[in-house]
Amino acid sequence: MKNWKILYRGSLSGCNYSCFYCPFAKKEISPVNLHNDKSELDRFIKWAQEQENQLEIMFTPFGEALIHNYYQEGIIKLSHLPNVKKVVIQTNLSGKLSWIESVNNKTVALWCSFHPSQVSLSEFTGKCNSLDSSNIRHSVGCVGMKEDFTVISRLRSELNPSTYIWINAYKHEKDYYSSADVQFLNSIDPLFNTNNKVYQTKGKICGTGDKVFSVKGNGDITRCHFHSTCIGNIYNAGFESVLYSRLCENETCHCYIGYVHLEELELAKVYGDSILERIYDLSHHKANTP
Ligand code: SF4
Ligand code: SF4
Repeated sequence: MKNWKILYRGSLSGCNYSCFYCPFAKKEISPVNLHNDKSELDRFIKWAQEQENQLEIMFTPFGEALIHNYYQEGIIKLSHLPNVKKVVIQTNLSGKLSWIESVNNKTVALWCSFHPSQVSLSEFTGKCNSLDSSNIRHSVGCVGMKEDFTVISRLRSELNPSTYIWINAYKHEKDYYSSADVQFLNSIDPLFNTNNKVYQTKGKICGTGDKVFSVKGNGDITRCHFHSTCIGNIYNAGFESVLYSRLCENETCHCYIGYVHLEELELAKVYGDSILERIYDLSHHKANTP
């Protein structure tokens, strides 16, 4: 039996938040878009159910998916399938969380993004506390904008000390950070330096396209979210033949959900079994800190 890590992104395109740097900010979602996205998700879940291989599924929607009932129901269903080892979703955590009581908390994990311009710290940390109470594994993180450093400090002091906080480096402005900024962000996220880079990846071995691959709502497979070439479709018989080790064809890779599969970085050793949900074991870090 093989283990596949699948990054699923359906047609959903729109979000209830309005972060200034995001193309999906406050984008109205049409009923047709929702209908198509739901049909795609239903089909994908049925497919997942029929697979003999073990699956780790991560939802990386263009927008916020967990405010829609069909994603909540889909995650509940997937989480109880015997061949699904993991279900992860990226979320802004703005939706109600009562549904989460019905998931299998051994398989579900959340990647929770904090957006200080959109939600108060207390509201966000309240949601994180609910996840703790329900024993839902999760990472928390945000973009390391300088104007948010104060609230990022408060986030660290108010969250459960064992919750890992990742920081995504702001890369739209060259030399954005001073060395003091980098030091501060490392104090929040011990792995910040790994993210604060643009990796030169052309010709390098990356696990995507083999044991890790991306799937669109119509079933099309691309090796990762950053290569647009369709290499197959999960709904075609024998699609597995398109999955094999490949070299990266892009010049660079700068996003966690991509570079984390770059073989030379050996990040599976750092995140262990929690690479999709981006949970780093902070006790491990403390044990190695003098
Ligand atoms: S919460 Fe995420 S998807 Fe929504 S506007 Fe902000 S960055 Fe975009
Ligand atoms: S290094 Fe990044 S861009 Fe290249 S194949 Fe891997 S995930 Fe895709």
